[in-house]
Amino acid sequence: MEDRSWTEINLNNFEFNLQELKSFIPENTSLMQIVKADAYGHGALEISKIALKMGATLLGVANAEEGSLLRYQGISAPILILSPSLVSEIPAIIENDLLCTISDLVFAEALNREAIKKKKVVAVHIKIDTGMHRSGFALKDTEKIFDAISFMEGLSINGIFSHFAASESDPEFTMKQASDFVNALMSLPKRPEYVHIANSAAVLSYNIPYMNLVRLGLMSYGIYPSPSYKEKIELKPVMQFKTKISLIKYVRKGESVGYNRIFVAKSDIKVAILPVGYADGYDFQLSNRGYALIKTVLCPIIGKISMDMTAVDISRIYQISVGEEAVLLGGDEEELHAESLASLYDGNSYELLCQIGRRAKRY
Ligand SMILES: *Cc1c(COP(=O)(O)O)cnc(C)c1O
Repeated sequence: MEDRSWTEINLNNFEFNLQELKSFIPENTSLMQIVKADAYGHGALEISKIALKMGATLLGVANAEEGSLLRYQGISAPILILSPSLVSEIPAIIENDLLCTISDLVFAEALNREAIKKKKVVAVHIKIDTGMHRSGFALKDTEKIFDAISFMEGLSINGIFSHFAASESDPEFTMKQASDFVNALMSLPKRPEYVHIANSAAVLSYNIPYMNLVRLGLMSYGIYPSPSYKEKIELKPVMQFKTKISLIKYVRKGESVGYNRIFVAKSDIKVAILPVGYADGYDFQLSNRGYALIKTVLCPIIGKISMDMTAVDISRIYQISVGEEAVLLGGDEEELHAESLASLYDGNSYELLCQIGRRAKRY
């Protein structure tokens, strides 16, 4: 059977983006490729392989399951679990030799006990909260926590890190987070192998002293955190989401298309039905707003997106038949970049990438 929709992952573009980003990474600074959520929907295994080939030394995932899968697939590089882990994930963390983020002492003690029992030493990164107020230990406790974990025989401190809350939008707050973090680190008896705070957006805008690792996600996938970054760097979108026209029909002036009749034809139009809907991850909010690129023409999405079908106005295309390819995301067309689509509904390009192609194979 033919695919009704699919994603194409352009690994050359991913390499291009990483190469561009590397010119912003200070000397003697290591690179962690963030591949959580299946590499933002791009396929964690292939992306990891290329990132490692391009010089990344660590990978970042969201949880023990994602890390374990990469191990099972043969990845031997260090893998850091970025989110707080659950006690029930400890066996997988130890068995698959995953680096674990520590944000609370009760969990650290549980991990320590299990490591000692299994005669292993688990490498950990301590997370410090400098203003995101999500995970991490309170900034003021940095020294105390570092000491407490240093004394745990089953754990070794491989890194310490924090996370910016608004590196793409609030320079003042970002600088405050950075300087608070650096000051806290100065109080420590020794510096762990890795100290890190910067995500993609921060790598381009800030050179933070003392740090020796950056964590790259969004921009490596060719997405700009905000339009102002376009002046600083050239990026190419890595993911395309495609489908094929499954039906062509004609709608007369005054007739409506789709649920609740939110689109009414202002003239006689030709309509293509695409076999993709919100169940495929094509966001419902793109109803009456998104576009499909068909035969080099940007065709507007009309009416509400259904679970499994979407209608587009193809009146501007003279010669067309069922089976013609339609691009819904990515490629050269600016309007189809994740940032542009997300901005049509006050959405988020990270979310759009992660949700796209739930039923689609990845090529
Ligand atoms: C997801 C994530 C990143 C990557 O952020 P981007 O903005 O995608 O570069 C970095 N650090 C942590 C802790 C993350 O969870």
